Amino acid sequence: MKLFISADMEGSTGIIDPSYCNPGDNNYERGRRLMTGDVNAVIEAAFAHGATDVVVADSHHKMNNLLIEELHPKATLLCGSPRDFSMMQGLDNTFDAAFFLGYHTRHGVPGVLSHTMSGVIKNMYINGQVVGEFGFNAIYAGLTGVPVCLVSGDDQTALEAKALIPEIRTAVLKTAVSRTSAHCLSPAQSAAVLQEETKIALDLAKRIKPTLATLPIELTIEFAHTGQAEMVSIIPGMEYRKGTTEVSCKVQDQYEMYKTMRAMLNLADTVQFF
Ligand SMILES: [Zn+2]
Repeated sequence: MKLFISADMEGSTGIIDPSYCNPGDNNYERGRRLMTGDVNAVIEAAFAHGATDVVVADSHHKMNNLLIEELHPKATLLCGSPRDFSMMQGLDNTFDAAFFLGYHTRHGVPGVLSHTMSGVIKNMYINGQVVGEFGFNAIYAGLTGVPVCLVSGDDQTALEAKALIPEIRTAVLKTAVSRTSAHCLSPAQSAAVLQEETKIALDLAKRIKPTLATLPIELTIEFAHTGQAEMVSIIPGMEYRKGTTEVSCKVQDQYEMYKTMRAMLNLADTVQFF
């Protein structure tokens, strides 16, 4: 059994504010160790429960956060950026299951460090359905033929995941108090929850259907301000709805969906507001 892990940082054990997630900030090295600890707990349980291959894609910021020198010796690590498929790089239809670890809620809803990709995006829609990083990546995985069977993060992230995939297993490592506060499990308690949920999720893998979307996909991004929407609308094929900050386009498949989203985001990011 082949397992793909996309590991984000914000939803990891004990991480409650940006000081754990931004390189150079005072808690960042602690954040890296906490993130690596969560990932290792899952890898250990996966190999003990029938996994033969575990590939981890570091999926936060510049994607170089996990401490490879402390990584479980039997796993391999996809790290660094840029990558065409970002948080989903390395996933193909030879995998039996995907786990999303350390995930967070989408922009504008409750949850620790809620956001969607970066500060420039307010909302993303796939065929009219609002999605955060969880939903976007789950649909990418689903169209690739792989079900998402486990998510870890705070209680709000678990709710967001279950709304899209009711059968998904959730490892709730903290309960959100505000966007930068949570009631957290200790690392030892988190590891126990992650290991238990890993076993159940791997058993479920054959029964969870991949999350699909009708092709071609209408991808819509609502930006933070009109300057970003105007800049993105110079890309051929983009439709800017005047009077909004939304730009839409049609994409043929999940690969085009991911690359187009990244191009839109990176172009919007070049626009100065003040
Ligand atoms: Zn992140």
